[in-house]
Amino acid sequence: MLLRGLSLMLCLLLAGCDLSPQAVQPKTLIVGMDGVQLLHYEQLGENTNLKKRLHYGKAYAGGITGRATEQETNSGPGWMTLLTGVWAIKHGVVSNNPSLRLDPAYPSVFRRLRQALPNAYISSVVNWAPINTAFLLEDAQGNNVRESGLTDDQVIQRTLEILDGTSADFTFIQLDEPDQTGHSNGFGARYQEALQNADTRLGRLLDKVAERQRKHQQEDWLVIVSTDHGRDYRGMGHGGVTEQEKTIFIASNKPLNEELTQPSIPEDNPWPNNLYSFAAQSSVATTVLRHMGLDLLPDWQLDGTPLLGNTGVRKARAKESEAKLLWNSTSEETVVIHRNGQVVANVQAKLQEWTDPQGMAQANDYVLVLDGTPVAVRNSPTDTH
Ligand SMILES: [Zn+2]
Repeated sequence: MLLRGLSLMLCLLLAGCDLSPQAVQPKTLIVGMDGVQLLHYEQLGENTNLKKRLHYGKAYAGGITGRATEQETNSGPGWMTLLTGVWAIKHGVVSNNPSLRLDPAYPSVFRRLRQALPNAYISSVVNWAPINTAFLLEDAQGNNVRESGLTDDQVIQRTLEILDGTSADFTFIQLDEPDQTGHSNGFGARYQEALQNADTRLGRLLDKVAERQRKHQQEDWLVIVSTDHGRDYRGMGHGGVTEQEKTIFIASNKPLNEELTQPSIPEDNPWPNNLYSFAAQSSVATTVLRHMGLDLLPDWQLDGTPLLGNTGVRKARAKESEAKLLWNSTSEETVVIHRNGQVVANVQAKLQEWTDPQGMAQANDYVLVLDGTPVAVRNSPTDTH
């Protein structure tokens, strides 16, 4: 009490002293579960942490099949898309080849957060080592923690230590048992058991976050749970472009916006069962950056629509045969269109299309900005010789 009284007196003597309650401190935990097929996770029933404690929606991985953003439904490309907010054509990790590194022009959330928040405590704790030891080797050098090759139980133990003993500003973890079990057994009882184990491990983390939130009420926790890819029809493999392999999910402790909760169909290319009406894997990074207080900048050319706050235009895409950009929006506001870093047009959002007078013979990086939310599109060049 004496100390508190003294500091209060000092406070009153000093100009500019802030007596208001402590500012909100954003925190994020991403729980990556490798190779989880949403349908099979849901088949565990209503008592999972996914069903009882999180909001979730279907999403897609693998980019848009047949277009510039198509990528393998494998772990390297998938986790890097999730952590950068761009597809592999930009981040460069097009396969699981361990010689690949993230393109520094499209850094991960680890690097963007380190630049914006020099004192943040940033961790990446993974079972499948190449995430840290290959693809993020240079990008995540600024992390406080980079640990790789742990068992799933060790990953959880380490994460609980981080959540207990540090400021834990941003933590990414990867659990691998569902993927390993799928590869060796396919779908079936063993795979369901692996999913149950992953869900139980998730529960321990959610308990710890809840405890921490009670102790530190100024902290605002975002927990996101997702996966890198689905699985083929038997559940053993993945990498291809079947609907099942491309189907993933994004779950959160917070209610997320309509991009996750109200699918919006891209009419010219909806894909079977309207898969592309759901959120994209690239939306996780933009959601995290926004939650952590960073402004999403057009120059970053991020592909993912954020799942918190304004969505901006939705389902932005190129229709190269007509040199058009298309998007979904009912907004009365204006979309500002950038091409390769220059503003080239202002268009009413509800028109939902714009034709590039220069054509799309070359690959261009477009960014469409609505209500302060940018979303990027890179077209496939139509000039192919
Ligand atoms: Zn796998």
